[in-house]
Amino acid sequence: MSNIHEFDVVVVGGGGAGLMAAWYASKSVRTAVISKLYPIRSHTGAAQGGIGAALGNYEEDHPEWHTFDTIKGSDYLGDQDAISFMCEEAVQAVYDLEHMGLPFNRTPEGRIAQRPFGGHTNNASGKPVRRSCYAADRTGHMILQTLYQQCIKNKNIFFDEYQVMDLLIVDGAVAGVVAVEMATGELHTFRSKAVIFATGGHGRIWEITSNAYAYTGDGPAILARRGIPMEDMEFFQFHPTGIYKLGILITEAVRGEGGILFNNKGERFMEKYAPRIKDLASRDVVSRAMYLETRAGNDVNGQRFFNLDVRPETVNKYAEIDGRTRPDGSAYQVTAAEIMSKIPDIADFCLTYLGVDPTKQPIPVQPTAHYAMGGIPTNKYGQVVIDEKNTVLPGLYAAGECACVSVHGANRLGTNSLVDLVVFGKHAGINAAEFAKGADLKPLPEDPTGEVMRQIEALHAGSGKERAAALGKEMRVEMFDHVGVFRTDEGLQHAVAKVQELRERFKQVRVADSGKVFNMEMLQTWELGNMLDLALVTAQSALARTESRGAHARDDFPQRDDATWLKHTLAWLDGEQVRLGYKPVVVTQYQPKERTY
Ligand SMILES: Cc1cc2nc3c(=O)[nH]c(=O)nc-3n(C[C@H](O)[C@H](O)[C@H](O)COP(=O)(O)OP(=O)(O)OC[C@H]3O[C@@H](n4cnc5c(N)ncnc54)[C@H](O)[C@@H]3O)c2cc1C
Repeated sequence: MSNIHEFDVVVVGGGGAGLMAAWYASKSVRTAVISKLYPIRSHTGAAQGGIGAALGNYEEDHPEWHTFDTIKGSDYLGDQDAISFMCEEAVQAVYDLEHMGLPFNRTPEGRIAQRPFGGHTNNASGKPVRRSCYAADRTGHMILQTLYQQCIKNKNIFFDEYQVMDLLIVDGAVAGVVAVEMATGELHTFRSKAVIFATGGHGRIWEITSNAYAYTGDGPAILARRGIPMEDMEFFQFHPTGIYKLGILITEAVRGEGGILFNNKGERFMEKYAPRIKDLASRDVVSRAMYLETRAGNDVNGQRFFNLDVRPETVNKYAEIDGRTRPDGSAYQVTAAEIMSKIPDIADFCLTYLGVDPTKQPIPVQPTAHYAMGGIPTNKYGQVVIDEKNTVLPGLYAAGECACVSVHGANRLGTNSLVDLVVFGKHAGINAAEFAKGADLKPLPEDPTGEVMRQIEALHAGSGKERAAALGKEMRVEMFDHVGVFRTDEGLQHAVAKVQELRERFKQVRVADSGKVFNMEMLQTWELGNMLDLALVTAQSALARTESRGAHARDDFPQRDDATWLKHTLAWLDGEQVRLGYKPVVVTQYQPKERTY
């Protein structure tokens, strides 16, 4: 057989989590990174706002405060042992990035600059704390560049523009993965002792989204088809400030720098919903507030958007009202130039896509699908766990947005995904390398590429009565309308039936291009299949959960119900059906309380 490669550790994905994992694994064992995108094009490069760590460079802050804020932000669904581990490790992780050469903004004394972000507070006063470490509004871009350079220095082996399509499991342990080389259409089998999935999110399932085109959930879908359950898929974050109609993200840092949200009456409506931290409440709270304002007829021009105002005169007026000061105690008063220097890329997006200069006009925004809290279940060592008892699948690891540790629970705080990538990417890399040192390569199954061949042939064999583009559109609209910010039993039943119908119709799609070189029609159709699988798992998990918690808001069950639902969902994709199970949430020091901001 040709095209067989052998490694100790294979990392699937070259984003922040994948590069961090590869960097650590490659220190001691032969490591390859397989990525469908050229690594520095990964979505991590789009991250704007920053990475959270309690450095306390301006004011008092502690990892325990970060821990509590994250638990509260998760609406108590996050596992507290993993959250405390992440927030403790975050501090060193940021210094590690600094030492690798990441060009953070600086305080006048030369320390890493920090800014406020939603849900991050001084636990004593309840007021926002400066915890987000940033490099202007290009933090993720800088992380990717820095890590990629370090990986090249470490002589990591990259297989760029190879798309992984299957995971090989032999006798209950990992044997490798199968990937297609996009430039030639050839299949490659990668034998390895350990595999780390770091494939990112799946937000392209929704109509209005901040996510890149590559966010089609390949990793979770591959694993779901191999019998691994998906955890907490009903929890998907809608970010309150996407550019109207386009969904492109306007970072929360705009509100961190003093931006304010207004409704059609010119009211700062967040005062009603989060009296203490107002515009900087957690994302689920702000997105829901926008929907409630829309229902009350308070959206601008009746067009379901709101104004995000970061003009200096507005920022300065409300800074005075809120009593906001600079770190040295002086009044917080900004100029247009200062705003531009803090959010240059955002200003650029506004000009390019809207023709709006944010220092002169408000930005029209609406909630946009943003982040997958759920995904491949792992423990805090990055190992994938496959049942209610947290049984480990030997050799299989996951990290980053595709994984569910769970540190974000029902709602992720801003800046905590980048923390998650670097902390759990690192530990997945270290632990996978340790595992590989004590393991042998598994024998390959008889026909390692057989399942991928079968899937590709099926895509070419459909009757052609259905078109992938049309099915994709129907899926995205259905998911946005019925599995969005607010949900009901009726809407979710509708979504489950609709996605099942779309999965059936998908069998009639035929890929017309039979070529081998960059057959994007074939790959994108295959990706649509992944999204339909994950859409079904998401809608079924959401239908079952009859409570409101974090990003999962049920109109018909408005209360959080800890007695019944303080537990993680596990959803197995069983052919056409989804089977559900549950496992307990790890509660250590913080008993669930009502959430107020
Ligand atoms: C616009 C935007 C702004 C954000 N801002 C912030 C922020 O300021 N702070 C914060 O904490 N979080 C932010 N987030 C969230 C955060 O950026 C992401 O959750 C995180 O970067 C995901 O990193 P990752 O390494 O898991 O995935 P990615 O960086 O997306 O990498 C995924 C990798 O997997 C590869 N891949 C996928 N499928 C396959 C396959 N089948 N075969 C081979 N390779 C595959 C891709 O090529 C890619 O290299 C933001 C997200 C968005 C969309």
